[in-house]
Amino acid sequence: MVAAVIDGKAFAEGLRGRVAEGVAAFTASTGRKPGLAVVLVGQDPASQVYVRSKGKATIAAGMESFEHRLPETTSQEELIALVRRLNDNETVDGILVQLPLPKGIDEQAVIATIDPAKDVDGFHVINAGRLAVGEEALVPCTPLGCLMLLKDRLGDLSGKEAVVIGRSNIVGKPMAQLLLQQNCTVTIAHSRSKDLPGVVRRADIVVAAVGRPEMVKGDWLKPGAAVIDVGINRVDGKLVGDVDFASASEVAGAITPVPGGVGPMTIAVLLRNTLVAAHARAGLAPPEGL
Ligand code: NDP
Repeated sequence: MVAAVIDGKAFAEGLRGRVAEGVAAFTASTGRKPGLAVVLVGQDPASQVYVRSKGKATIAAGMESFEHRLPETTSQEELIALVRRLNDNETVDGILVQLPLPKGIDEQAVIATIDPAKDVDGFHVINAGRLAVGEEALVPCTPLGCLMLLKDRLGDLSGKEAVVIGRSNIVGKPMAQLLLQQNCTVTIAHSRSKDLPGVVRRADIVVAAVGRPEMVKGDWLKPGAAVIDVGINRVDGKLVGDVDFASASEVAGAITPVPGGVGPMTIAVLLRNTLVAAHARAGLAPPEGL
């Protein structure tokens, strides 16, 4: 079998187009654009690239982009004071503090300061808790993007065996919650899991969010499985995922490539979350088709 390649880039473009339409409708009905504030502390090169592309995509979608670049020497108090000002700023619907933060700043303390209604990254414990109990929540962008790709490919996910490799608060745990909400039978594997290939071999759906280049091999997969590769690893100047694409695509039914799979979804879902937050803050019904 040769797997169908899931084109995350094309799906993300479509989503960004739908968000832009929603932004235009929101602006027409409220007289203001949705606004996304992105905060970058320090000079991390990867973070600078992400922040630049987030700003560009925000403007391209017709939203207001507010960028706050703070020096490496910023104290936790100063950063928290900025987040509080953004919480109070009516033109800001979404706040994203780019991680990782410099050493000495407690990320959880900063995230806890973000107004949950503006927490478009979905990292605040209130949003994580709402997701866990099945309430309306702002959900982390990368796992929500993975779910969108899966539903687009497979339709109803009810009853499917899903294995999520990785248990981070950013990807693995929210991914597992989302799949559970879709009535999958969910297993979360991690660095202490025994017989990982055996666990993965049970899965109709595999989501790999590990950060280990090409760890998941084709012979770990059940034939026909849908494989979502979240990993972004730089090896010899080349980007590779957590899945060995060459061997996995011989066995899987569908697979996301790296790059061009999950990666482009993250920013598209961030824009979507910002539009959703703007609607909720304006007391409007959630935008449709997103
Ligand atoms: P973390 O490092 O926070 O988590 C990695 C997880 O993988 C941990 O739960 C860890 O287990 C588990 N793990 C590590 N080694 C193994 C192993 N040998 N076998 C099984 N499990 C293992 O990473 P993130 O969740 O933040 O990110 C994961 C990957 O996704 C990275 O490559 C990252 O770059 C990428 N990423 C991509 C995004 C995108 O937009 N496409 C967005 C976010 C992340 P334990 O908990 O036991 O330590």
